[in-house]
Amino acid sequence: MSKHVAGPEIERLIQLLARLPGLGPRSARRAALHLIRKREELFGPLTDAMQVAREKIITCKTCGNIDTVSPCTICQDNRRDPSVLIVVETVADLWALERAQALSARYHVLGGTLSPLDGIGPKDLNLASLAARVAVDGVTEVILAVNATVDGQTTAHYITDLLSHLEVKTTRLAHGVPIGGELDYLDEGTLATAMRSRTDF
Ligand SMILES: [Zn+2]
Repeated sequence: MSKHVAGPEIERLIQLLARLPGLGPRSARRAALHLIRKREELFGPLTDAMQVAREKIITCKTCGNIDTVSPCTICQDNRRDPSVLIVVETVADLWALERAQALSARYHVLGGTLSPLDGIGPKDLNLASLAARVAVDGVTEVILAVNATVDGQTTAHYITDLLSHLEVKTTRLAHGVPIGGELDYLDEGTLATAMRSRTDF
């Protein structure tokens, strides 16, 4: 057993912080010390913010996004293009696309991908309402913004089949050379896909 250097309350704080993604025990100790040092301006407000967030966070019944209101802020935003629906695996992916500000549309969060090996089937994902949303809401394009993994592509094919009876275009994200990417450093799969999906200059 490791030797404790602080009282049980502080040890518990460190242990909990160490469970956060990206924080190991060492970073957790540093974070705990930082919080303790900044008790007034950081620790207090952070505790309050966490408490409020914990009480108010809900899942949007329309799209599966996380917010404090349902329909969520994005679903309620009338300035977004109502004809486009972007399908993502997780809320993290939704946030990433929002940060990129590439398109002002609405989303549908699946909550994962189909994965026969892990026993994750269509019923385990937020798929039931997708076809209904597309049919009712006047959506003309569904963008399958899923990961470029085997499971992601399996899911994309499943959704394409699911929506095939509807008058809607399904598209997927382009796979290719990342911005600032040097060809010599790319893996062969990425390079080959980029070559196949070349576009006019
Ligand atoms: Zn929503």
